Amino acid sequence: MTDDGGVESKLAEWPGDRVQALIARAAPGDVESAIRRASSGGELSAADLAALLSPAARGSLETMAREAQRLTRRHFGRTITLYAPIYLSNVCAADCLYCGFAAKSGDSHQRLTLDPPGLRVECEALAAQGFQTLLLVTGEAPSVVTVDYLAESVEIAREYFPSVSVEVYSMTQPEYEKLVGRGLEGVTLYMETYDRPCYAKVHPKGRKQDYAARLESLDRAGADGARKLNLWVLLGLFDWRLDGFWLGLHARHLQKQWWRSAVAVSFPRLRHVPARFTIPAPVGDSDLVQLMLGLRLFLPQAGFTLSTRENAGLRDRLIPLGVTHLSAGSSTRPGGYALCGSETLEQFAIEDRRSPSEVARAVAAAGYDPVWKDFDRAFTGF
Ligand code: SF4
Repeated sequence: MTDDGGVESKLAEWPGDRVQALIARAAPGDVESAIRRASSGGELSAADLAALLSPAARGSLETMAREAQRLTRRHFGRTITLYAPIYLSNVCAADCLYCGFAAKSGDSHQRLTLDPPGLRVECEALAAQGFQTLLLVTGEAPSVVTVDYLAESVEIAREYFPSVSVEVYSMTQPEYEKLVGRGLEGVTLYMETYDRPCYAKVHPKGRKQDYAARLESLDRAGADGARKLNLWVLLGLFDWRLDGFWLGLHARHLQKQWWRSAVAVSFPRLRHVPARFTIPAPVGDSDLVQLMLGLRLFLPQAGFTLSTRENAGLRDRLIPLGVTHLSAGSSTRPGGYALCGSETLEQFAIEDRRSPSEVARAVAAAGYDPVWKDFDRAFTGF
C-alpha cells in the first residue's frame, strides 16, 4: 500500500462490497501465503489481510498464533505495559447510542467534571499504585471541558506521570498543538466503525456526527507531534471482518505518514450497553482472537491494547497473542479512584476487576514482565 493520499481517499478505494468479495473468495492457500509472507518479514498486502480475517483462516489460527507471538516478541520483547485511565468528566453533549455517558442514555447518576484539586487527588491515588502511564478521558462537551482546561489538566497530570495521553473529542490542529506543548504524549481516538451508514445511525448528535473530521483527527495529532497514536473500532457495531480490515489500513496509513509516532490498536468489545441499545453485530471470543492475530501479522510493529472490558480469564489467555498494553484496576467514572467512590455516572462496566498488582502478577505468571513505564521513549529518543 502506497501512502500518497489522505486516509479518506485511501479507504475510499476499499468500499464494503469490494472488501466483502475479497474476504468471501479467500481460500486456505491465500491464508498460508499471507502467513509465509509475515514469517519472511515481508509487508502484507490488503488482500493478505482480507484472507487472514476471512472464514478460510479459521483452520489456521494456531499457526497464526505462533507467528503473532514470534513477531510480538521480536518487536516488543516479553513486556506488557500497564496503564490506567482517569475520567476527567462524564458530561457529554453527544448521544452515541451505545454509551453510558450519552446525553439521553437514561442513567441519572451524577455528572461531574473534576476541578484541578479533584484531578490531583485522582492522580495521587493512581501514582501511589505505581502507574507511570495515564490516559485522561472526557466526554464530548468542549464548552465544559474546554481545550484550555484540557491543556491545564495535561500539565497537572504530567507532574505525576511521565506519559500522559488523552481520549477526548476530535480537535483541530492548533488545539492538538496546544496540548502537545503542555506535555501531551499521545492521542487515542476511535472511529467506532468505518461503515458510514452504521456510523451515522449510532451517532445521531454532537460533533462526532462529522465522520470525515473524526477520521482525520489522528493525522492532525500526528502532524502536531503526538508521539503515540491509538485507534480502534468498537467491536459489535458492525461486521468485525470489514471494520478490522479498514482499521488495519488506517493504522498502516498512520505508521507510514507519521513514522516518528508509535501507532497502537485497541480491541474493545461492546458488552454492557444502555437499555435502549441492542448490540447489532456481537463478536465472539474466537472472532476476537482471529482479529487480533490477523492484525498482528499485518501490523507487526503496532502496539496492541486490551482493556478491562474483557474478563480476567480471557485477558490472561490473550496476553501471548500480541498484547503489549493492558489497563488495570480501571474506574470509568470521574472521581472513581479516591474522590467519590461509585457515586458518579460510569461510562461502561468493567469485567476485569482485579487490582493493578493482581494484573501484574498474572502478566508475570504468563512469562512476561509487567512494566509501569512506557519504554518507547528510551527507544525512540523523544
Ligand atoms: S462515546 Fe464519547 S462522545 Fe459518545 S456519548 Fe460516549 S462520551 Fe459522549
